[in-house]
Amino acid sequence: MTHTFAPEKTPTALAKMKRFLELWLGDLSFRQKYETAPDLLLKSHNIAVDPAILDALLKQKTGRQPKYPLQLPSVEWDAYTQALQKKKHMMDDVRKYSRSHHPIFQKWRSRQIARNNQEIGSYRNDMIVYSPWAVELSKGCSVGCWFCGVSALQHENNFLHTKEQQKLWQSVLTVMEEVLGKKAASCGFCYWATDPLDNPDYEAFIEDFYQILGVIPPSTTAQPVKNIARTKALLHYWKKRNASVQRFSIVTRKTFQKVMEAFSPEDLVDIELILQFDNTVVPKVLAGRAREMAQKRKKPIPGLNLDSDPSTIACVAGFLLNMVDKTVKLIAPCAASSAFPLGYITFVEKTFSTAEDLKDTLFWMIDQHMKTAISQEDTLAINPIFQHTVEKDAVHFSSPFAKASYAKKAAYYPLAVELAKGKKKAVHLVQQLQEEYGIDYITSFCQINTLFQKGLLDEAQFLP
Ligand code: SF4
Repeated sequence: MTHTFAPEKTPTALAKMKRFLELWLGDLSFRQKYETAPDLLLKSHNIAVDPAILDALLKQKTGRQPKYPLQLPSVEWDAYTQALQKKKHMMDDVRKYSRSHHPIFQKWRSRQIARNNQEIGSYRNDMIVYSPWAVELSKGCSVGCWFCGVSALQHENNFLHTKEQQKLWQSVLTVMEEVLGKKAASCGFCYWATDPLDNPDYEAFIEDFYQILGVIPPSTTAQPVKNIARTKALLHYWKKRNASVQRFSIVTRKTFQKVMEAFSPEDLVDIELILQFDNTVVPKVLAGRAREMAQKRKKPIPGLNLDSDPSTIACVAGFLLNMVDKTVKLIAPCAASSAFPLGYITFVEKTFSTAEDLKDTLFWMIDQHMKTAISQEDTLAINPIFQHTVEKDAVHFSSPFAKASYAKKAAYYPLAVELAKGKKKAVHLVQQLQEEYGIDYITSFCQINTLFQKGLLDEAQFLP
């Protein structure tokens, strides 16, 4: 088979390589035709890229064996790998800059990250940026995805960019900067169980965000074709402002086709498409409505079954605001469970009426609810993600992702044995360790706090 193509200049080639992958992953008939008549197909989609490069892309993304050997060096392939690296560095930067300058916040956030290494595994956990805050500019979401990992409620209302509300919004952004530090505050984003484009003034709010915090926040919308002129203007705006991560969540095949028709490969070169309509392309995380659905179904759903690993789609360890209700919650991601079905823990929730009020509340939450050490009155239990077995010479704890064993001679063995027996107040536990094993009070508290920092203790026990 011969290929006739005139290679594109690099930025265009990059856009077309991306479009090729999207079509291959999202359109079964494209995939089938590519196997039988690739030339014709690529020509009809105006994808003039070296077939060896397309093969290499498929190999990397899907493991498909290439038919054409890739000749290196290749300018296009280098551009593609650099684009991937750039995206990875961007995510690494967001994770790094999301650390608040407040020492209690930092310590608390590190503990939440450590806990999730036990609960959802470090591979998945490393992909969570742990942003320090997010804000909803609507109440509810009009899209209503069956798999919504945070079980968004029906859309009710929007916070509009009136003169008075803009003033409050700008002061909220300034408060976030004061409390978190500018870098961390700039890692916030303006949606949660909401779709940004439900709010008719979303663009005006993110312009204020840009003016005060210096960056355009990331967005994910499931409504890229609801108003194509609006989306095109937004794409133009994002480009002008050099915006970072922007995503379209494609929830139906029909939307996918419309996106392919309405936007050129160049329009979408910087936009990540999340192909949600096919469970085999993007398996659904068992949280929120997807978890509920999986529990109700008798038969397994392809790509979705109850035996899948515990996980979450939550990515904030910090404050979640809603501007319609004027609420603020302190939250952190966790494995979705019957105790925390939405895949995040809410430690405390308050309302606020002014920016000053919000500032006081945030500092109060940091002081009172970002727990960094165990006190005598705390009730202690092993994180329920762990199963445990007590043997004659050792105690073993195991989660789907982590294992911890304490042999009889190990310093932590008495503490592990007593925790395995069930929950206890810290003061009683240390007393018992002193009386039965001769371990002094300070050593026991140090050991308990080490397990706490590593995420081995049940966070639910510390909720008010
Ligand atoms: S997944 Fe996103 S778009 Fe879909 S219902 Fe939930 S919040 Fe709305």
